Amino acid sequence: MGSTPLFAGDEINTIVLNSTRSEIEQNFDCGHEIIHLSKHREENGGIFRCFEEAQNSFLEWEANEGSAQLIVPYQDFIPRFVHAAFVSPTCDTFMVPELLATYYHVSPRVVEIRMDSLSYEIDQYRCGVPVEKLELLSRRQQQKRGIRASCYSAKCAFSLDWDSAIG
Ligand SMILES: [Zn+2]
Repeated sequence: MGSTPLFAGDEINTIVLNSTRSEIEQNFDCGHEIIHLSKHREENGGIFRCFEEAQNSFLEWEANEGSAQLIVPYQDFIPRFVHAAFVSPTCDTFMVPELLATYYHVSPRVVEIRMDSLSYEIDQYRCGVPVEKLELLSRRQQQKRGIRASCYSAKCAFSLDWDSAIG
């Protein structure tokens, strides 16, 4: 597995994308490095070598979340997901991640992670809260408040009955 190096410079920043990764993976990798550039450039001496298998540090997590928001912004994703899955389902629910992945030029995995990390916000939207009024809570904040959000990736994967499955 290759790395995607980033070299932050005074005048020129360089992002090197790994050509062995697919186009949609490179799309996400590029967003990931842009987040390092904009938020983390004072860290690591401005040099990041991002291996897929070593993305457990906070900076790597933040770069992945930032890239997801850059390419798949929740303000656009949540209404689009709810429409595709509930309002006007044009395919079986297990196809929804693939459908949205094609739309955003990301892998279905990125869409599934988005469905899970935004599940509380999707629940609110489905209850009628407009996108601009959604309360964004981290998983930890949800746990503190005893909130149990729906698991949309499981529901898509197993084509569960949506309405009876919403608790
Ligand atoms: Zn990284």
